[in-house]
Amino acid sequence: MRSVLGPLSIRTRLTLWYSAILLGILTITSALSYSVLRWSLVQDVDASLLTVAQVLHDTGVAGQAEMEAVLREVLGPEFYEKFFRLLDPEGHPEEGPSQRRAQALRLSDTALANAVRGRETFETIRTEDAGDVRLLTMPIGRGRRTQIVQVGMSLNRARSALRRYLDTLVVLIPLGVALAAMGGALIARTALRPVDEMALAARRITAEDLGQRISLRGTGDELDRLAATLNGMLARLAAAFTEMQRFTADAAHELRTPLTALKGGIEVSLRAGRSGEEYRRVLEESLEEVERLIRLAEDLLLLSRSTAGPEAPRGHVDLEPLLLDVFDVGVRLAQGTGVSVRVNDASPAAVSGDALALRRAVLNLVENAVKYTPAGGKVELSLTSGDGQATIAVQDTGIGIGAEDQERIFEPFVRLDAARARETGGTGLGLAIARAIALAHGGTLTLDSEVGAGSRFVLRLPLA
Ligand code: ADP
Repeated sequence: MRSVLGPLSIRTRLTLWYSAILLGILTITSALSYSVLRWSLVQDVDASLLTVAQVLHDTGVAGQAEMEAVLREVLGPEFYEKFFRLLDPEGHPEEGPSQRRAQALRLSDTALANAVRGRETFETIRTEDAGDVRLLTMPIGRGRRTQIVQVGMSLNRARSALRRYLDTLVVLIPLGVALAAMGGALIARTALRPVDEMALAARRITAEDLGQRISLRGTGDELDRLAATLNGMLARLAAAFTEMQRFTADAAHELRTPLTALKGGIEVSLRAGRSGEEYRRVLEESLEEVERLIRLAEDLLLLSRSTAGPEAPRGHVDLEPLLLDVFDVGVRLAQGTGVSVRVNDASPAAVSGDALALRRAVLNLVENAVKYTPAGGKVELSLTSGDGQATIAVQDTGIGIGAEDQERIFEPFVRLDAARARETGGTGLGLAIARAIALAHGGTLTLDSEVGAGSRFVLRLPLA
């Protein structure tokens, strides 16, 4: 709901809705009660007219004057508002009625027809003298002495009672709605105050201060649940922030080591005149460090891309040729190390995803297996499918990984044997990249390992 005044607050909107609904309900119920009142007032008038006619019928007196006397006696003050006249069976006035108001009465064709058939008729007619008049036409007497009597009563009194009721409603309804709107606004303000407080508290929490939390009121209501949800989000943000800071620090450290080595080598060689042979050696060493830096930069880039999800459009990837291709690379890597690489099982399976990324993930596992398996050991690859999943397993008979490190090694820059890993060119990002790729494809990468006995990395991916 937008107005020229700009967006309305929830409080105002609630109050407006509430008031509009209340106004609607009050209007409908008032209209109903007004019609019921009008109907029952007419009903009352009809009943009292019938009483008069009944008295005339029962007393059996014939003349207008006698009848009036009887009525005054029987009905007392109740008679004053009523007037009547007598007509012969054909509908002609018998004698001039004594009451002036009765002279204005008329006999309609329907009423006469009904009277001839012995039935009474109620009508509302308009007279000059008494305004709207309720009129009862009824035959009285029996046999040859049948007459028609018309009893009337002005509706003015009933009308003015109705008008007074209407006037009261016209004042009371807006007053009621105004009071209810004020009450509603008050309730809405009280109910929504915690939301304002929460917004204020949330505004105070900054990126540097993610440890702060929005306080719960302990009511367990919707707002408490909202606060708890926000707190949960803050906790996750804080964890992500800490993780990012740690990652940045680790990355900086990883970059600094080869850079320091480079700088040291260059400084030493510049300190005095060197032979061409010596310069060559320094340059070769420097090149190694530069290559290490490039590898690190590439791995960092790959990790950030994999975490953000597969970059290339998802396509149909046949895993069997992919595995055989990685197997070829593994065989080449293992040359001269005394490690044998084999494919145990390779059944066709296809997934949807980024073929290059998936190849990278499997290659990282195979590289590690070859790297961390001593001479004489075996590395076995297998590809199976079932239960809607393709399963690639890379198993080695290498040094194995202790239970306490099995989850840790998937974190970036974690190397269990740092000296050895660096020597073999590892950046400590291989497994982090492989797991990020698995997750980005809706799969998992798990590890089963025993120190001294070997490791088995299992990559599971949903089949296409
Ligand atoms: P790196 O570049 O050091 O290989 P990874 O993330 O690939 O980094 O591996 C992290 C660490 O996990 C390695 O340094 C190594 O200690 C351990 N690791 C990985 N694969 C194996 C394996 N097949 N057998 C034993 N240890 C392994």
